[in-house]
Amino acid sequence: MASICVCARFRPLNLREDGEAICITRSDSQSFSIKVAEDLLCFIILLRDNDEKDEQYMFSFDKVFYEDSEQADVYEFLARPIVRDAVNSINGTIITYGQTGAGKTFTMEGANILEADNLKKGLLPRVVDELFDAINACGEATAYKIKLSMVEIYMERVRDLFDLSKDNIQIKEHKSHGILLSGVTEIPILDGEEALKVLCGGIANRAVGETQMNAGSSRSHCIYMFTIQKEVTNEKRVSSGKVVLVDLAGSEKVEKTGAEGKVLEEAKTINKSLSALGNVISALTSSQHAKSLHIPFRDSKLTRLLQDALGGSSQTALLCCCSPSLSNSSESVSTLRFGARAKHIKASSSRVMNSNSKEDIDRKQQEISALNDVKQQIAERILKKLREKLDGETVNLIGEEFVMEGLLLSDPTTSGSMITDDEEVNSSHESVITSQTIASWKEATQKLVNTILELRRENMIMKEECQVIKEENKVMRQVRKRIKAKLAQTKTLYLVMGLGFGVLASSCFSFVLLVS
Ligand code: ADP
Ligand code: MG
Repeated sequence: MASICVCARFRPLNLREDGEAICITRSDSQSFSIKVAEDLLCFIILLRDNDEKDEQYMFSFDKVFYEDSEQADVYEFLARPIVRDAVNSINGTIITYGQTGAGKTFTMEGANILEADNLKKGLLPRVVDELFDAINACGEATAYKIKLSMVEIYMERVRDLFDLSKDNIQIKEHKSHGILLSGVTEIPILDGEEALKVLCGGIANRAVGETQMNAGSSRSHCIYMFTIQKEVTNEKRVSSGKVVLVDLAGSEKVEKTGAEGKVLEEAKTINKSLSALGNVISALTSSQHAKSLHIPFRDSKLTRLLQDALGGSSQTALLCCCSPSLSNSSESVSTLRFGARAKHIKASSSRVMNSNSKEDIDRKQQEISALNDVKQQIAERILKKLREKLDGETVNLIGEEFVMEGLLLSDPTTSGSMITDDEEVNSSHESVITSQTIASWKEATQKLVNTILELRRENMIMKEECQVIKEENKVMRQVRKRIKAKLAQTKTLYLVMGLGFGVLASSCFSFVLLVS
């Protein structure tokens, strides 16, 4: 199975870093080592209690774009396969992650969204070019419609960047279309030039704040969504695919930005949502071992919006943007660790379909949607039966769990209206699904209990080690005291002996004088 495509990109040193040491050493196009700066080093040395000064970390990704890489290289490797699949109705998401000033927006938009210079042109204008090239190359048998939406997540509110009056858009989950933004503005796009102008308007509406890191740094997550609707005219079959580009807000630590007041609040909200993203990634990687663990998609707007991308129904590419300078190496290491964790998320069956033929893709999509329909019906009937016995809130909670476990595809608060009396749904199926769900919850609880026990055990061991160290310190103090006392005794002895020898020598001298 393929996994999320994770790449790293190092921008060239900027003016502020001019003359600074570079912290990375290239191994090849996929691997490199990175040296950490003094402050982090001291911390590691303290922890390890040894004198290893040259601490290096090795990282390997699907591809590493070094300082001399070009925008076109990033597009070719990371974005082109996703855009091509979106034209064939397979959803794809491209995410840029990293500290402020690391090159996320430069990669996404280029120096300027309307920039025609091929060297600086970012992913967005290239996605637009590719989409219209693909559409124009199609015969008359297929008709395409492209719609564009643009939102930002600012202080945990989803704002429509094409209509600022919509400043709190709700995220919903649809039975067959997955995660949706309720009422978001969708602008139909007829050609590339128009798309860039529309994007330009949205970008101008982005909230920007000032920090010490980068005066133009964005304090919101920005999400660009292209929906490509495809209609095969003679078959009257309509399908659609999405390309979602996510330019995340900076991941740096609050202390380093010198943020205060409102900007500090913004930074805290950003860090919270990026932590939620990290937690979702951790849960997804762990759930591959523990089969079904709760994935906290609902902990932030960002993770809820990316639920399809991370949870399985979309192809995903993550670009970890970093500075190559030694002074930013600790932030770079934390960005790269985030990418390394994401690398371990395995794809669901729908994410690996890109290598198959169009017929395979269509067939698999039909199979998946039929299977999802059956699962949905069964889950809805279970919820309906539970509603007769339990209070509404409890049933909604169980419904949410069903959504998380992929048994129910729509929002449980609205699922009541979708419950049918279809008696054809086999009740034995229900009991199988129910017992499976209970078993998976039991398994997750058991895992938690084991973790707690393990933590307790480690805590005991650490306490014992602390006790031993205390004892050793006590003995050392006593030994030091004894040595001091001995030294003082020896000093006095030498003094007395010196005096004795002096008196003896002077007596001998007087005696010799008397005799002579
Ligand atoms: P971020 O969005 O991560 O906060 P930006 O993309 O705004 O950072 O980049 C900060 C600065 O660095 C910008 O002036 C940008 O032009 C420059 N920059 C970033 N990446 C590159 C690159 N690969 N080549 C040249 N300049 C870059
Ligand atoms: Mg930016």
